[in-house]
Amino acid sequence: MDHFQYRNGILHAEDVPLPAIAAAVASPVYVYSRATLERHARVFQDALKPAGDVEVAFAVKANPNLAVLRVLANAGMGADVVSGGELRRALAAGVGRDRIVFSGVGKTDAELALGLEENIGQFNIESEEEGIELSAIAASKGATAYCTLRVNPDVDAGTHAKISTGKAENKFGVPIDRAPAIYARLAALPGLRLRGVAVHIGSMIADLAPMAAAIMRMGELVGALRGNGHVVTHVDLGGGLGVRYRPDDAPPTPTDYGAMVARATKGWGVRLMFEPGRVIVGNAGVLLTKVIRVKPGATHPFVVVDAAMNDLARPALYDAYHHFEPVIETNTTFTANIVGPVCESGDTFAMARDCGVVGAGDLAVFRTAGAYGATMASTYNSRDLVPEVLVDGSRHAVVADRIPAATVMGAERVPDWLG
Ligand SMILES: *Cc1c(COP(=O)(O)O)cnc(C)c1O
Repeated sequence: MDHFQYRNGILHAEDVPLPAIAAAVASPVYVYSRATLERHARVFQDALKPAGDVEVAFAVKANPNLAVLRVLANAGMGADVVSGGELRRALAAGVGRDRIVFSGVGKTDAELALGLEENIGQFNIESEEEGIELSAIAASKGATAYCTLRVNPDVDAGTHAKISTGKAENKFGVPIDRAPAIYARLAALPGLRLRGVAVHIGSMIADLAPMAAAIMRMGELVGALRGNGHVVTHVDLGGGLGVRYRPDDAPPTPTDYGAMVARATKGWGVRLMFEPGRVIVGNAGVLLTKVIRVKPGATHPFVVVDAAMNDLARPALYDAYHHFEPVIETNTTFTANIVGPVCESGDTFAMARDCGVVGAGDLAVFRTAGAYGATMASTYNSRDLVPEVLVDGSRHAVVADRIPAATVMGAERVPDWLG
């Protein structure tokens, strides 16, 4: 459930009519709903209650906006970060340092050192090599790194190839059959306190079966590690739960997920950790856009909007579907191609889409844009970097300024020797 609803025929974010935001900030602009963020955080946390001792760290990469992170931190979430930049954001947003988990296959020495200096809660080590480096850095600082070993369970998440992470050929984690040997080696290193294992098989998972299979394998691994004399107190089950993008999508609910997890982990006697991203923020944001013009096409008209692939990359990257709706409700529909102004055929949000009729100057939204939206934005085609707004009841605030293309150009230099 989200708080983007039509009232008197006008799409609102909570109590704010979207035309008011377009008037104040211009388009394109991302609009987030605080009440929706808080609701999703609460629903997810409540859904995991049957699983016992649980800690939830929001996957910052899904939406790293400081205001969004602050809302989620206030709602009791930690942060799963995958770079030094995200680590600094989590700290700046007020996430408790002991609630920060550092994931990622390519943490540099500088990033590992930053995590140690900031005394974060946990490193999810993705290779034996990384563990050896982290040990050396921690030992040299006289610090202790609390860690899990990320395991690749060789399970097909059944999702898009570009967001699948738990198959043997993917770069993430260590192969599950080699995990006991690597775990034993890392557990003996100074500076590391290896306390469990982590898994994350992919994103936008529409079926619980592969998740259950991965959890079962992790359970067997925990048993094997304990059999080898290790003390296992933490298991991080990652994120990946899908959300509804199309009106008729029916992904597993957080409640279904929580019940499955509670069953599958019964008796493990560990603290379970989770790293949800999309399910928390996806439906808490829309991308508000304006139709520049409608031009005829071979079969269907092209609706050219002022948002583009540089603002919302998912359709171009993964052929992703984003529901497109006029801000002023209409009962008449047409079939159209929805495209942006960027000079690439990939700058296409939808082909042959049935949607409410829009014309030049009309406002519309792409729904479910709160996850992997603004965070992936670029300035391609020398367009402005898209701004972000947070709504709270009847008030709203710009939580990320539009960065003009001229400002980006201002960071460039033509050396004297070019004449
Ligand atoms: C991306 C990612 C997540 C979040 O995935 P969602 O599908 O957004 O829930 C969690 N953990 C790790 C390690 C990730 O890379």
